[in-house]
Amino acid sequence: MISHFTRALRLRCPHCGGGPIFTSWSRLLPACPVCGLGLERGEQGYWLGAYFFNLMAMEAVFAVYVVGFLLETWPTPPWELFQITTVVLMAVFPVVFFPFSKTLFLAFDLLMRPPDEEDFVAPHEPALRPRRATSSDPP
Ligand SMILES: [Zn+2]
Repeated sequence: MISHFTRALRLRCPHCGGGPIFTSWSRLLPACPVCGLGLERGEQGYWLGAYFFNLMAMEAVFAVYVVGFLLETWPTPPWELFQITTVVLMAVFPVVFFPFSKTLFLAFDLLMRPPDEEDFVAPHEPALRPRRATSSDPP
């Protein structure tokens, strides 16, 4: 169980630890290149759970930051600094945490709903490797 989340925190496939499963910070492959697990598990709106994880993590970070900041600076908190740093933190954190929210939600979902054979596609299918357009492609 813990290994699912450890793999997720390393941005690897939570099922097998293979990867990479991201083509960029925000783009996930349709399936794991090693075990073939479909990373959206065949459902529309699947990533709503990842957004929820991201929101909950942001709220937890915000609460810890507010309490820590006030405890450290009480009785004369610098409110202007507090406002600026809070806005920056709340703008940056969701972007930084975005891929982790996806892999962590996938790990959670795999624990709640273990994968069956319909969740897997054959690994190394050509469709799994996004192809870049070249200048020789027809328009
Ligand atoms: Zn995998």
